[in-house]
Amino acid sequence: MIDWTEVVRRSAEGNPAPPGRVEKTPDQWREHLPPDVFQVTRLAGTERPFSSDMCTLFGSGIYACACCDTVLFDATEKFDSGTGWPSFTQPMDDTTVAYIGDSSHGMVRIEATCAVCDAHLGHVFPDGPPPSGLRYCMNALALRRN
Ligand SMILES: [Zn+2]
Repeated sequence: MIDWTEVVRRSAEGNPAPPGRVEKTPDQWREHLPPDVFQVTRLAGTERPFSSDMCTLFGSGIYACACCDTVLFDATEKFDSGTGWPSFTQPMDDTTVAYIGDSSHGMVRIEATCAVCDAHLGHVFPDGPPPSGLRYCMNALALRRN
């Protein structure tokens, strides 16, 4: 199970090889995605909190990358963070999420991206529930529930 120490290490030293790669040009992504999904995933946008009913959805299911369909999270790792963004404590496979240092907006944070297609997913914080202690604060627009 990945923990905060490992997340910080990967953001500084690099991420393990992903299970595969999907690469498209910005124009190809723009053609492939709805505008709001493009804005969040390819331009590192942030959707408004509480803008998706995915926040309050806790039934069984699998959450995949909205860009490349790589399976990222299982509903059993989802929890109610109260933040207005869908939140998870752990990815299903820890090589599908990549960690990147992000000092934008005057904050030092760790960005979570899809390791397969580089989609911006959201950020990871060390204040999640045990046992991982991690909170993956995700944009609902970056995920597709299957
Ligand atoms: Zn992806």
